[in-house]
Parts: sequence; C-alpha cells; structure tokens
Amino acid sequence: MRGDLRGPLGNQTAALHRCASPVGVCLAALVWLVGVPAAGAQEMPNRFVYLHDVDPTILQDMRYASANNFTGHVVPGYAAPECLLVREAADALKAAQAELTPQGLSLKVYDCYRPARAVAAFVAWAKEPDDRHAKAVHYPALDKAALFPGYIATRSGHSRGATMDLTLVPLSPSAEVPAADASTDAPCTAPRAARAADTSLDMGTSFDCFDAKANTLAAGLTETQRGNRALLLDAMARHGFKNYDKEWWHFTLENEPYPGTIFDFPIEPREAKD
Ligand SMILES: [Zn+2]
Repeated sequence: MRGDLRGPLGNQTAALHRCASPVGVCLAALVWLVGVPAAGAQEMPNRFVYLHDVDPTILQDMRYASANNFTGHVVPGYAAPECLLVREAADALKAAQAELTPQGLSLKVYDCYRPARAVAAFVAWAKEPDDRHAKAVHYPALDKAALFPGYIATRSGHSRGATMDLTLVPLSPSAEVPAADASTDAPCTAPRAARAADTSLDMGTSFDCFDAKANTLAAGLTETQRGNRALLLDAMARHGFKNYDKEWWHFTLENEPYPGTIFDFPIEPREAKD
C-alpha cells in the first residue's frame, strides 16, 4: 500500500526523506502534507481511466472501499470500489494479464490510484488507539509507530496514478484452498489455511501485512510461496513495473507520466459502458 517519498518540491521532499520511522519525528512533514495543495483537486484528469474499461477480465477487490482493510472502515475518497489508473499503467496491466491468462492465472488488484485525502486518513489512523482485530491481523509484530514510513507512506506513490497493489489468482476453482472467514484474528503471516479467505495464490502473507515476511525476498518462505512471488514479479517486470521490496504486492510503472504530481480527486462510481 505504501509509496515512495518522491515529490515535486525539492526542499520539502528532502524534509520527508529525513523523516525517520517513529511518527513523532515526522510531525513537521505531516503538517506540510496536510497543507500542500493537491493538483487536480476534484475532477478526474483525462489521462486517468477505469481499469474495468481497459480490461474487465482483471479482478478487482478494492479493500479501501470496504471495511475489510487495516483501518476497519471505508477510507475517505473511496466512494466506489473501482481501480483508477493513468492510461499507460492500465494498458501495461492489460498486457501482463494477456500473458498470464494462458497460464491459467489472473491479476487481482487491491488498490490503485489513492486520493491524497486517503493517505491523510491513514496518518490520522496512526494516532488512534489500536483496534484489537486490526492489530492481530495486519501488524502482529510491530507498533503502529513503526509502520511509517516503511509500510504506510505519508506521501504515497499511489496518489500519482501509476502505482497499484495486486496479486495473482488461479482461474481454475479447483486450485482454491479452503480458508478461514474474514473475521478471523489469525495474523497475516499465518499459514494460508488459517488466514482470512482470499482467492490469491499463496504469497506467504495476505495483502497489507505490515511485517518483515511481506518483504518480497523475505526469508522463511516455502518454495511455493517464493515461486508465486517470482511469478508476479516477473510478469510485472516484463511490462515495465518495478516492485517495492518491502511489499510483494506493490508495483509502480517505471515510466510514469506524473512522477511529481499528487492527485486528490475522489474515486466515483463508474458509468457503465457495457
Ligand atoms: Zn501499495
């Protein structure tokens, strides 16, 4: 879910780079974040598309538009469960999907474009007391303060429209493995059968698992889990996406069109065209 700290304003970006993990150290940077005027305040720019319109075969499980995420609530800015991306990123995902389909696999996105207001909501969430279920599942071994900026960015690449969180799903139902229901308190690092149900291949952790085991090349994975991560990594790399090495699910189009722009328009329902 995280993004990098690259930004359009040199001196402020430098301040963010100096921001160490403990949230207290980052306060100055956060004040700056809240005050920054986001580009494209309300309207979706022409260069953005609904992924469904580009490739309806790519599965979407937009966690922040539901309560099924680490905050336990719908996240501000997510008025619809839709993946929005810049056209270039959506086209590259479509190409990756075309390569995966004959292998019996599909991409499934968990998050795509993320309005800046949602990032601000994550920062506010960090100051609230722990929710027992969310902590048990999403960050069993870390304190909230340790989630920034490694796992939750104070200025996310997702807000630039060319970053997404995704996994691989087998197209054959026979490949599905029974799993616990969403209410389980089993940590995201638990064996797959104990974790909350998800149609994904076994990647070793579930999505938004703020733990060292989510690092793409983490030690202690099974051969199958390592292989599944490599499959996703290779498919994405072939189409111009770079992985964030702390999270196996997080990718950015390397040649992104808005490398220095943070957007804040809300995600609205898509007008059906089919
Ligand atoms: Zn991400």
